[in-house]
Amino acid sequence: MKRKAISLFSGGLDSVLSAKIIQNQGIEVEGVCFTSPFFNAEEAEESVRELDIPLWTVDITKDIFRLLKFSPHGFGKGANPCIDCHILMIKKAGFLMKERGASFLITGEVLGERPKSQNRAALNIIGKESKYGDYLLRPLTAKNLAPTLPEREGWVKRESLLGIKGRGRTTQLDLARKLNIERYSSPAGGCLLTDPIFSRRIKNLLMQGGLNINEVELLKAGRHFYLGESAKLIVGRDEEENKKIIQLALEGDFCFRVVGFPGPRGLLRNGGERGETIFKAASIVARYSDSPLNKTTVEYYRAPDGRKISISVSSINNEELEILRDK
Ligand code: SF4
Repeated sequence: MKRKAISLFSGGLDSVLSAKIIQNQGIEVEGVCFTSPFFNAEEAEESVRELDIPLWTVDITKDIFRLLKFSPHGFGKGANPCIDCHILMIKKAGFLMKERGASFLITGEVLGERPKSQNRAALNIIGKESKYGDYLLRPLTAKNLAPTLPEREGWVKRESLLGIKGRGRTTQLDLARKLNIERYSSPAGGCLLTDPIFSRRIKNLLMQGGLNINEVELLKAGRHFYLGESAKLIVGRDEEENKKIIQLALEGDFCFRVVGFPGPRGLLRNGGERGETIFKAASIVARYSDSPLNKTTVEYYRAPDGRKISISVSSINNEELEILRDK
């Protein structure tokens, strides 16, 4: 009987190699990748062309938001709840395994590659708490671990699996050359929750109790400035961000643009009614415009369709700008 495996497929080299090793044993492989506002399927969709296999995409936004609020196994250096995220992904892949009539799961995990989420204890926890431990084969590092069901049953040949350990990439890169694999993304590329600046912003959002998709999308766009306790201004860095910022404006937000010169869009949230904050926001928006004037006209309105008001402001000076910038 021809066996089938579901590969947790991020598009990174380790996931491509794991799938290829199993494919080369005559086992059918299907991939699954996960999306949320913090990571997407682009890299997986690109790399999967190396293998010519179907790729299923599962949106786990709700689950990741839940884990950001409470992650039983804690976070990495950023806001990345990697152990719990792996458990979640393996559970989801397990459902797909049953649905697709597959016999086991594979991942590109390597013992010791990530200090917190891929040490022996963490791999054991992931297997145990996902409840798929015995079905979970890690082809790149299998020889460092106890044989799993697919190995014991002879569905895969353990002798053809690998015993890679640690953070070095030489073995994987050699293997990629040998197997003619050219398309793969950089290790851990893609997850914003590992980015230090983004993580800090997410933690601030969590402290304010404001974690939702709109806020997260705003965090991903533009330059950010804090103009008061909770007042924040987001200034677009290019046309695409300008558009996105305005699309994300909620009722009560103020939207800014410079009149007469090319310049960014700005969005002020939680700015209240204080003229002082409005002027400050306008002076920042003016600072990033092409206006050479001492006084620049900035137009603003209250979303969604408030009356447009024009004010004349001087650009903020660099020193003050740096104090307000969310670095
Ligand atoms: S790096 Fe991001 S996507 Fe990957 S396991 Fe950690 S939290 Fe999940």
